[in-house]
Amino acid sequence: MIRIYNTLHKKKEDFIPLEEGKVRMYVCGPTVYNFIHIGNARPMIVFDTVRRYMEHKGYEVNFVSNFTDVDDKIIKKAIEEDVPSEEISRRYIDECKKDMEGMNIKPATVHPLATQEIDGMLDMIGTLIEKGYAYAVNGTVYYRTRKFKEYGKLSHKNLDDLQAGNRALLVSGEDEKEDPLDFVLWKPKKEGEPYWTSPWGDGRPGWHIECSVMSCKYLGEQIDIHGGGEDLVFPHHENEIAQSEACSGKEFARYWMHNAFLNIDNKKMSKSLGNFFTVREISEKYDLQVLRFFMLNAHYRSPLNFSAELMEASQNALERILTAVDNLKFISEHAKTESLTEEESGKIKEAEHFEEAFDASMDDDFNTADAITAVFDLVKYANTNVREGSSRAFADALGEKIKELCDILGIITEKKEELLDSDIEALIKERQSARKEKNFARADEIRGLLLEKGIVLEDTREGVKWKRA
Ligand code: AMP
Ligand code: ZN
Repeated sequence: MIRIYNTLHKKKEDFIPLEEGKVRMYVCGPTVYNFIHIGNARPMIVFDTVRRYMEHKGYEVNFVSNFTDVDDKIIKKAIEEDVPSEEISRRYIDECKKDMEGMNIKPATVHPLATQEIDGMLDMIGTLIEKGYAYAVNGTVYYRTRKFKEYGKLSHKNLDDLQAGNRALLVSGEDEKEDPLDFVLWKPKKEGEPYWTSPWGDGRPGWHIECSVMSCKYLGEQIDIHGGGEDLVFPHHENEIAQSEACSGKEFARYWMHNAFLNIDNKKMSKSLGNFFTVREISEKYDLQVLRFFMLNAHYRSPLNFSAELMEASQNALERILTAVDNLKFISEHAKTESLTEEESGKIKEAEHFEEAFDASMDDDFNTADAITAVFDLVKYANTNVREGSSRAFADALGEKIKELCDILGIITEKKEELLDSDIEALIKERQSARKEKNFARADEIRGLLLEKGIVLEDTREGVKWKRA
């Protein structure tokens, strides 16, 4: 049984899906005005791992994660560069997807864009007005917060305390609100900004409404898991609950999961402090798998400190796993016997408890730190038990097991082999003779093989040329 720490009830609870065998999951995605930073990478890695583990357990996971592609920061950047704001959002969505691929994050089932879902937002805002949960003043639509009796249930805040804290925050121009706690659903257009027409005037949506709309459209009125960084608990997720539940009259999400923050050298990451890294910058120094491995070495609800030393340590630790898998492959390829001896069968049986420990850790609110310890215990076991005289089946079985567990964590165990120039030329020669013999299947296979390793072939009049892509 998987247990999840639910922010809503501040405790771990058994995971029981709404529909047997299925998981509906929504994770708030990034605002795309720049390359994503390593803080943004944390929820991506965490929730991709949650998804992978759920799939490993046999669930069919419908995973939705948005891109916020209309926002003040995007508009600001577009003005700076003197380009349309879609150009900015399109560019950074593409870059974000490249970074995700580098971190081995599976694409979501759907990645909706806010700007493509405006109609749905207009509908939901309309319903909220009809039901008395929202009102329009001078082209702005506000959510009537006090009308939603359960407001504050996720962040465990009391409305009156919020009100006291909020009074000072009331900015000029917001005095048209009925109550300082009311938040914006729709705001009127400003000169030079993207806008859409609406029954309340031209304008654009507030940020919170998009997630309520997209999650309902792609997953239904009720979902199993809603995730994001802990900074989103209030007000973003609190507001999502207010919007969605006022609209549907049903509980919106059953389990609310929040990752803790990533800090750098024990300080909050910020551009002004100069301790700010994009994922792209990290990729220039490390394979992004190392970043993933580093993140998973901590429990997702613990604050995580990023430093060069910790990254080096992660790189070395990951290397130990990859080397073990490589050694097992070598032993398998050179094994003198095929099948398991009785002793080896016993050892495979004994090794099952590493997998059980892995699952028990993951079942316990996705404790990836302990799950990785179980992987290392298995690696150690393989290193001491598989040796030169072992059978192929034994080396393969333990190698497969390590690979399988790493795969659940999204860690690829194959070493990325660099092909030597001489290997490449030998393969090209083989391809030439295959072509001569009209064995085009083999010729294509070789081309594909080389391409996989990043080697591009070009057939020219002078012969075959190649380059590393
Ligand atoms: P944003 O683009 O700011 O809306 O953030 C996208 C996601 O990244 C949200 O789930 C945030 O909570 C999360 N996030 C932003 N900064 C950090 C950080 N330093 N550590 C962990 N998560 C973060
Ligand atoms: Zn959201």
